[in-house]
Amino acid sequence: MPTYVDPNACNACQGVHEGPLCVYICPNDLMVLDSDLDKGFNQEPELCSECYACVKLCPQEAIHVRGYADFVPMGAVVQPHRTQTTEGDGLRWEVRFRDGREFEFTYPSRTRPAGTVVPYENFTEDRVGDLGSQGLAGEALWLGVTELPTVK
Ligand code: SF4
Ligand code: SF4
Repeated sequence: MPTYVDPNACNACQGVHEGPLCVYICPNDLMVLDSDLDKGFNQEPELCSECYACVKLCPQEAIHVRGYADFVPMGAVVQPHRTQTTEGDGLRWEVRFRDGREFEFTYPSRTRPAGTVVPYENFTEDRVGDLGSQGLAGEALWLGVTELPTVK
């Protein structure tokens, strides 16, 4: 289910960010801005890895996730909306099935308020020296171990 930008909702992130956030966040460089229309769009939907990063980040909630017309011909759509829960910031997911049924669920998505995350906080690794290692950034930290086992 690749992403689709509702052109009526997209405002090119004007007033929110110095550039389109979906373009900034897409790890596959799929999201681009149509400079004539000033609208974001997915330039290669078939390559979308469905990470939902752009969907969740879009301040206009303009990005939907929906199936290809050949196997979801009735237009199923999934879209998250940012919301507040009793446990903090969260996401309310709206799911519209191809037969018209609608379903939604909400759950907390963060342990910190938006905008307060410090990149690389508590990382103790040598970011340059570790480029030749087998570990991923922060892997030992997040696994709660002091050292990762490696293949000799
Ligand atoms: S993040 Fe949303 S509002 Fe911003 S350019 Fe992309 S689709 Fe448009
Ligand atoms: S869902 Fe992920 S891979 Fe797909 S367009 Fe959005 S950011 Fe890129």
